[in-house]
Amino acid sequence: MSETIFSKIIAREIPADIIFEDDQCLAFRDINPQAPTHFLVIPKKPIPKLSDATAEDQGLLGHLLLVASQIAAEQGLTDFRLNVNNGAGASQTVFHLHVHVLGGRAFSWPPG
Ligand code: 5GP
Repeated sequence: MSETIFSKIIAREIPADIIFEDDQCLAFRDINPQAPTHFLVIPKKPIPKLSDATAEDQGLLGHLLLVASQIAAEQGLTDFRLNVNNGAGASQTVFHLHVHVLGGRAFSWPPG
């Protein structure tokens, strides 16, 4: 997999507002927030997109969701939205799997 802006954030080659880290994942604030709270949870394993994950990633994928929920609670969010863009046609721009966590405003459905 080629290097991405997120692998550089993991390697501390570029700065980010990191709010959580453990051995499997990293969470940091989105540079272009779409809500009062907007952070990204990414695996340290360089999976380009969700559809590249395999059965061996099952535990990791669950971990990302639990961490997202835990950080949302720590940020004072009770209602929040998770979003995973898979592929350019779904607006994915950084090809390192990431879970968007957005909160602090009302969200409509369906999304745009
Ligand atoms: P995607 O469109 O791939 O689902 O989302 C990529 C997200 O990464 C976007 O919301 C964008 O604002 C964010 N992003 C892109 N480059 C950087 C960066 O250098 N630092 C941070 N913190 N976020 C970034």
